[in-house]
Amino acid sequence: MTFVIACPNCGPREALEFSFGGETTRRAGPEASEQELAGYLFFRDNVMGRQIEWWLHRDGCRKWFLAERNTMTNQIERTFWPHERGRTA
Ligand SMILES: [Zn+2]
Repeated sequence: MTFVIACPNCGPREALEFSFGGETTRRAGPEASEQELAGYLFFRDNVMGRQIEWWLHRDGCRKWFLAERNTMTNQIERTFWPHERGRTA
């Protein structure tokens, strides 16, 4: 199964084009090593339900955006720009 993320700028692209930037509450940051990022992805505390995360469209427009991911299904339910965050529920 291909994991697809919808960049707010470019539309749906394969997840391989993106870099995970961490949860907004406990961010790994763009300077984190790949090992650290893997730790955030696979070994962090499990949050049940939806959480907001930073993603970078590394191989595309190179813009950071936010994604709301359901950690139980691993589905990204929506993506949006940081300035749009206050307008959404
Ligand atoms: Zn993009």
